[in-house]
Amino acid sequence: MSRHQYDLVQCMKQPGTRVGKVCQQCDGRCPICDSYVKPTAKVRICDGCSFGHLGDKCILCGNGLGREEGSGSAAYYCLECVRQEKHREGCPRIVNIGSSKADMMFKKVSTNSLQR
Ligand SMILES: [Zn+2]
Ligand SMILES: [Zn+2]
Ligand SMILES: [Zn+2]
Repeated sequence: MSRHQYDLVQCMKQPGTRVGKVCQQCDGRCPICDSYVKPTAKVRICDGCSFGHLGDKCILCGNGLGREEGSGSAAYYCLECVRQEKHREGCPRIVNIGSSKADMMFKKVSTNSLQR
């Protein structure tokens, strides 16, 4: 059902204490299943994903949250994902936005080595 299940990868590192932030567009959306129903548990992201400029970006779409302190909304897991303990699996930030370029380069390199 999810649009991005196939081409987007989540970080899944051990979450730290920072709360994941989302932009207005993604407000109320569960980072696991995209549901807007019954937001239940606050999202925690790992230290790597809350560091520096990453902390100012939406964890779901990578949009900037604005410069002001406290901009963006806290992300929440939906009730269904909390029931299935999916919220314990790790940092849910989408990490491979814009990586299709890197994938293409990887394919090119592997084709070259096959030809040799
Ligand atoms: Zn967003
Ligand atoms: Zn969910
Ligand atoms: Zn992370």
